[in-house]
Amino acid sequence: MTFRSFAAFLVLSSGLCFGQSSPSADTASAPTSVPKKPVSFDLSAIDKTADPCTDFYQYACGNWKKDNPIPGDQTRWGRFNELAERNNYLLYEDLKAAADAPKTPLQKKYGDYFAACMNVELADKLGATPIEPALKAVAAWNNRKTLATLAGEMADRYGISFFFDFSSEQDQKDSTRQIGALDQDGLGLPDRDYYLNQDERSKTLREQYVAHVTKMFVLLGDTPEQAATEAKNVMTVETALAEGSMSRVDRRNPANVYHVMTIAQLQAMTPDFDWKIYLTAKKEGSLETANIVSPGFFKAMQQQLASTSIDTLKSYMRWQTVHHFAQNLSEPFVQENFNFYSATLAGQKEITPRWKRCTAATDRALGEAVGQDWVARNFPPAARDNMEKLVHALEASLGQDIQHLDWMSATTKVEAQKKLDAFRNKIGYPEKWRDYSALTVKRDDPIGNLQRSIAFEDRHDLNKIGKPVDEKEWQMTPPTVNAYYDPSMNDINFPAGILQPPFYDFKIDPAVNFGGIGVVIGHEMTHGFDDQGSQYDAHGNVRSWWTPEDKKKFDERTACEVKEYDNFEVAPGQKLNGNLTLGENTADNGGLRIAYAALLSTLAEENKSAADKIDGYTQAQRYFISWGQVWCENTREQAARLRAKTDPHSSGQWRVNGTVQNFDEFGKAFGCKVGQPMMPEHSCRVW
Ligand SMILES: [Zn+2]
Repeated sequence: MTFRSFAAFLVLSSGLCFGQSSPSADTASAPTSVPKKPVSFDLSAIDKTADPCTDFYQYACGNWKKDNPIPGDQTRWGRFNELAERNNYLLYEDLKAAADAPKTPLQKKYGDYFAACMNVELADKLGATPIEPALKAVAAWNNRKTLATLAGEMADRYGISFFFDFSSEQDQKDSTRQIGALDQDGLGLPDRDYYLNQDERSKTLREQYVAHVTKMFVLLGDTPEQAATEAKNVMTVETALAEGSMSRVDRRNPANVYHVMTIAQLQAMTPDFDWKIYLTAKKEGSLETANIVSPGFFKAMQQQLASTSIDTLKSYMRWQTVHHFAQNLSEPFVQENFNFYSATLAGQKEITPRWKRCTAATDRALGEAVGQDWVARNFPPAARDNMEKLVHALEASLGQDIQHLDWMSATTKVEAQKKLDAFRNKIGYPEKWRDYSALTVKRDDPIGNLQRSIAFEDRHDLNKIGKPVDEKEWQMTPPTVNAYYDPSMNDINFPAGILQPPFYDFKIDPAVNFGGIGVVIGHEMTHGFDDQGSQYDAHGNVRSWWTPEDKKKFDERTACEVKEYDNFEVAPGQKLNGNLTLGENTADNGGLRIAYAALLSTLAEENKSAADKIDGYTQAQRYFISWGQVWCENTREQAARLRAKTDPHSSGQWRVNGTVQNFDEFGKAFGCKVGQPMMPEHSCRVW
C-alpha cells in the first residue's frame, strides 16, 4: 500500500509496508488479557532522580521505561503502542462478534473476512496453492515483448508490482486534477541504501536477505542449488533497480518527483516495455500523460529489461510473487517471512499472534466498514465537539505566531495567513462512509479475499484519474492512532483512534491536553509550513509564495534543525538523518510552541496562571511533562537502526529533548540555567 501524496503523518505506524501487512504469524489465536486503558499524565512514570534540565526525557519517562519492557511480539513499545494495542483489541472484539453472530450485512462481510483470515487450518492445508496460478503465469512467460502483458495482469489481478508502482495522485501544479503516476518500487529490502551501502552491517544484512530469498524458493519446491541461483538473480535485478531509485531525502522535494510526460515520451525512454499494453491491462489504456515520479528508475528498469536474461527476470518476478503473499500462506512461509523481516531486520523476538494480524488485516481491507461500528462504540459525539474547539484555539495561536515572527516580511505573512485560513479540519471519521458492495468476501477463501480487496482498492484509486478530487476522503481508518497533514488537500486529519488518553482526556486539566493532543494538532498544522509544506500554497498547489529574502531566512533556520538532529544518536554509531527527519522535527518544534501559546490564552480566559500547581507541578510543567510522556518508549536496537534509515520521524527521546531545548519557556518552567543541555546558549527556531 503506498500513500501517493506527500501526506505527513504523526508517526510511522505498525512498522513499514513490506508487502501487504505488518509482521505477524500464527501463535495464540485469542487475546489472553485485556490491554489496560492508558492514562494521561502519569506521575508514576517520572524519574525524580533525573535532572529535567540535563535530560528531560529521562525525567518524564525514566520510570515508565524501566517498568515497561518491550513485549516479545513488538520491536518498539511506547505509550503510543499502548493505545494502539487497546484500540486493536476493541476492534478484535467487534470482529469476533461479527464473525460469530453478525447483525447487519456489513458485519457479515467483515466478520467473514476476519473468520477466513483466522482459519489457520485452512491456510496450512492450502500451502502455496492459492498463488499457483500467479506462479504459473510467471513460469510460462518466455518472450520479452509480452512482459508488459504479464506485468499488467499480475498488477491488476493480484496487486503485485513488478518493478514499479502505478496509482493516482493530485497534480501538484493543479490540485483539482487527479493524474496517473508511475513510481519506483519492486525492492525486497526496506530502502535502496540497504543495497548500496558498503559498511559491514549492510553487507551482512544483504547476505541474510539472499539466504531468506533462497529459503522461500526452497519452500516453493526448488532444490537448494536452484534456489541459491535464483536468489542471486533476484539480488542482481534489485540492486540495479536500487541504483536507479531516488533517495528518501531527495524525494522530500516536490520538484524532484514531478515529471509529467506523454506516454509516447515514456515509451521512447523505455522501448523494451510496451506501456499501451500494460495500461490497457490496468483498464487505463486511454491515459495520454502521467507523472513519471522517478525517471532515473525507469532508465535503470529499461537497462535491466534490455540486458538481463529471461531466466533472471523470471527469478525476480517469482520472488516478488511469493513475497507479496508470504504472510498469508501456510506456517512455514509465515515463519520464514517473520525470521527475516521482523526478527533479523527489526529485532522482534516472537511472532505476532494471529488474532492481531487478522484484526489489522481486516481493518486494512474494510476499514470504513469496521470503523462505523467502532466509532459508535468508542467515540462519543462530545469528544468531536471538544476537539473542534481545540483545533480552533491552535489555529488562532499559529496565526499569532506568524504575525509575531521577527524574520518574516509582512508580504509573506499575508500569504502564510491565507494558507492557514484555508486549512480544512477533519475530525474522527468520514462524513460519508465508503461503499464496499462491489467487494466479494468468502468465508473459505482468505487469499482470494486479500486479492479481491487489493484489486478493489487499486480500482478505487485508479478510477480517480480524470475525476474531481474528493475532499472528504480519508487516508486513515477511524481506530488508527495517528494523524496527518496532506499538502495537496491542505487539510489536517485526526482519526477517532488518537482522540483518547494519553493524548486527550476531556476530564483532565487543559495543560495536559494541550501538551498531548494540542501539540499533535499544532504538529499537523506546522506541516503546512515545513520544508515540503511551505512549497504548497493555500490551494494545495506547488507555487512559491515567499519573497526570496524570506525563503533564504527560512532555509537558514531549517538548516539549523538539520544540524541539530544530525547529531542525535539512536543506537551505537547510528545517528538520525537531519534531512530525512526535517519536516517532522519542524512540525514538532512548531507544534510545541503554538500549543503552549494556546494553553496560555486558555488559562488567561479562565483567570488562571501558568504557575498554579496540581500534583505539585505548575501548569507549565504539566504541559511539558504531558508532551514528554506521549513519547515514552523502548526500542530494540535493530528497529532503531531501521527507523533511522527509513522513518522521517525522530525517535521518542529526540522528539522530546530535541524540541524542549529549542524552547526557552521550557527552561523557565523548570528553572534551568543557560548552558545546561536542555537550555543551550544557541538553539534553533523556524516557527
Ligand atoms: Zn508529522
